[in-house]
Amino acid sequence: MDLSQILYSLGESEPDMASGAVSPPILQTSNFAYSTFQELKDVLTNEYDNSLYSRGHNPTVRLLEKKLAAIQGTEAALCFGSGSAGIAAAVITHLKQGDHVICVRHCYSWTRKLLSITLEPYGVEVDYIDDFNEESLKNVQRENTQMLILESPTSLNFHVPDIEFGMKYAKDQGWLTLIDNSYGSPLNDNFAKLQPDYIAHSATKFISGHSDVVAGVICGSLEKMKQVFYNGYMTFGAMLSPFDAWLLIRGLRTLPIRLEHSGTTADEISRFLVDHPKVSSVNDPFDTNHPYHERAKTQFKHRVSMFSFELDVNSQQEVAAFCDRLKVFRLAVSWGGYESLVLPACALPNNEHPIGLIRIYIGLESPESLIQDLKNAFNAIHQSS
Ligand SMILES: *Cc1c(COP(=O)(O)O)cnc(C)c1O
Repeated sequence: MDLSQILYSLGESEPDMASGAVSPPILQTSNFAYSTFQELKDVLTNEYDNSLYSRGHNPTVRLLEKKLAAIQGTEAALCFGSGSAGIAAAVITHLKQGDHVICVRHCYSWTRKLLSITLEPYGVEVDYIDDFNEESLKNVQRENTQMLILESPTSLNFHVPDIEFGMKYAKDQGWLTLIDNSYGSPLNDNFAKLQPDYIAHSATKFISGHSDVVAGVICGSLEKMKQVFYNGYMTFGAMLSPFDAWLLIRGLRTLPIRLEHSGTTADEISRFLVDHPKVSSVNDPFDTNHPYHERAKTQFKHRVSMFSFELDVNSQQEVAAFCDRLKVFRLAVSWGGYESLVLPACALPNNEHPIGLIRIYIGLESPESLIQDLKNAFNAIHQSS
């Protein structure tokens, strides 16, 4: 289906939504009532497809799910109150005591904590690997391996693991697979054709785009979505509210425009940083000199406006001087909104990265204002040392 049709009309004339209103209704209700015994009985037997209670099915949320599945190119999708909730529900639906999971090492920090803090005490075994190749997978795989958790690029260092190989290997072994693709967004990845069981997104990021919602989605087959629905989704109850679903539908309408705009600006910023004497390296998978540029090009359709770079400094003080001078860039976690951000690695507890490493996310501001802001901040390092 044509992308603009998905973004601007798909699902919006279904009976629950159709009122002639151009903006779809927010069905802000916890409960749905039926007028006959038989109707109620029918709905009770199929909660996935019918509005019974909004912890399960809600038409505004389902409208968003239809659009996200269509963009991602999967049969169905299931939305959650956060990206982490979606990942946890999918993983917990399948794993039991004695199962083994393999996960990419520098995955999203709360995915790692889901495995190590929440699941290991229940008897789930976990191994982390840096990249997916024959050797790394053979080294850790076991009889009881059940699932492979993939993510690309990995956090802060912007390594690009070989997702294609990992997927192929996992399929041969019959393992379940989950790819966290918050980075690419459903519009921008080539992962659906590898047919993972789950593609997970933090919808807080690009899908929302306005830094006003925390949300998540998992995409996959209808069978898998139903399996999670009747397990981790309903039991944990981490559903998305109808109002937040409506905000995400609104955010989605401009997703392609936002991605393109921030991507173009990111090209300029990346070049500026590559050329800057106070920058020792730029970890931008979309820079043609990045060691995994070719791999990144097979994984993503367009450049993504987040990467990292390393300030040529020796102290946290110099990093602080750089950060404190920024006026347009804000100091914050998360990303995917209109506002450009930096996240200095050495501000993180238990930082394992070089002291000067900084993650940079490019939003929708003008490239001129962002570059001027960076220039001012680079000058502040000289003054501090
Ligand atoms: C933000 C993020 C998450 C978690 O999403 P929330 O919506 O914050 O729960 C998971 N994976 C990646 C790659 C992320 O960037």
